[in-house]
Amino acid sequence: MIEYNSILSEIQQLYLSDSTPWIIGFSGGKDSTTVLQMVFQALSKLPKKQLTKEIHIICNDTLVENPAIVEHSDKQLTKIEIAGKEQLFSSNPDLFKVAKLTPKLEDTFWVNLIGKGYPPPNRWFRWCTERLKINPTSDYIKHALQKNNNAIIVLGTRKAESTNRATSMEKYNEGNKLRNHRLPNVYVYAPIADLSNNEVWAYLLQVKNPWGTDNKELLRLYGFACDSGECPFFIETGTQSCGKSRFGCWVCTVVDRDKSMENFINNGKKWMETLLNFRNWLYEIRQQTYQYVPKYIESSVNFGPFFLRIRQEILDKLLNIQEHLSIKLISRDEIYYIHMLLEKESEGKVKKGLQKFIFELPDGKRVTTISDFNLLLTPRKRLGPIYLKKARLVESKKVSSAYMRSTRVMYYKA
Ligand code: SF4
Repeated sequence: MIEYNSILSEIQQLYLSDSTPWIIGFSGGKDSTTVLQMVFQALSKLPKKQLTKEIHIICNDTLVENPAIVEHSDKQLTKIEIAGKEQLFSSNPDLFKVAKLTPKLEDTFWVNLIGKGYPPPNRWFRWCTERLKINPTSDYIKHALQKNNNAIIVLGTRKAESTNRATSMEKYNEGNKLRNHRLPNVYVYAPIADLSNNEVWAYLLQVKNPWGTDNKELLRLYGFACDSGECPFFIETGTQSCGKSRFGCWVCTVVDRDKSMENFINNGKKWMETLLNFRNWLYEIRQQTYQYVPKYIESSVNFGPFFLRIRQEILDKLLNIQEHLSIKLISRDEIYYIHMLLEKESEGKVKKGLQKFIFELPDGKRVTTISDFNLLLTPRKRLGPIYLKKARLVESKKVSSAYMRSTRVMYYKA
């Protein structure tokens, strides 16, 4: 308990040391629950009149979170808001704020995957973390900075989570409790950096949760999901891949297998099988392209967005699943926006099958694409090295049936 007490005193000291608001990242997982619980515990021991600086609790909702986890964190957020305002900050409830952060419409997973044709993310092209997690958090912090000159982000990151994380935390720490964030005037504080996995669980199971939840529920959820890590709260690029931890998006294809969802299913959540099959299908069609490239151009081919027909197929399957399971998987706004993007690209759709489009770039070099739509008519700005606005279509012709089973636009130097 000595270790926990020293963290609690440090939290009190830092809270009282200035008027910089705290922004606490809450993911619903064990680490962020521990930090938030410790902040509650530490501040509740201070006289109410000393609680004069703002606390923001922010929770990222990527809109493609595992539905079972969303249910858990939504319940927590409601309880946290009530307890924070009524117990901790009863004399000034406006100082305690809870916010759920979601990506902008044009940045959501489905809009990018189906509307714009991005391939499902993998380790080398992980376009999602920034759009779904980092940008909404940065926007919130920037907004908070308009009122205050500084902000401190409080996170549940721990050195024991991964070697990478330990190294990056050491690099920034240099004996200070706060490290600089990439945004100016923003600092990061990680109170439980030195706790082990077991110490986190011991704390959660020994100390009563202050917002009235039973932490055994969280333990059960971990039991359902798996024994590996949670999706950490993301504030910047360069930290551990959230795709490695399996407490995040149900559509995540950064990992080969979603063991978390498999465990949910094995533990009785049979309805998740439909989601898992769909995720596995997305994973599969991402790889397929490599199989259908004719040998003579294989080494020079790169891959771009999905073909229109595949994007339409993804949307149809997703809507079917949504209807079948009666769970909201995609919003009406996303569907509307996706239709708009698909219609726009359909203006350049080839009549049947695929076509070879040869573009000339400003430096005279030529690039060939094989696609079921003319890329010059898409709202996207570039395809690999080609800035589409600067490209000129010089030729288009039908391609042989060898390409027909491909799923993504391919391009190579003509
Ligand atoms: S969990 Fe996977 S899909 Fe979700 S943001 Fe992280 S890497 Fe992307």
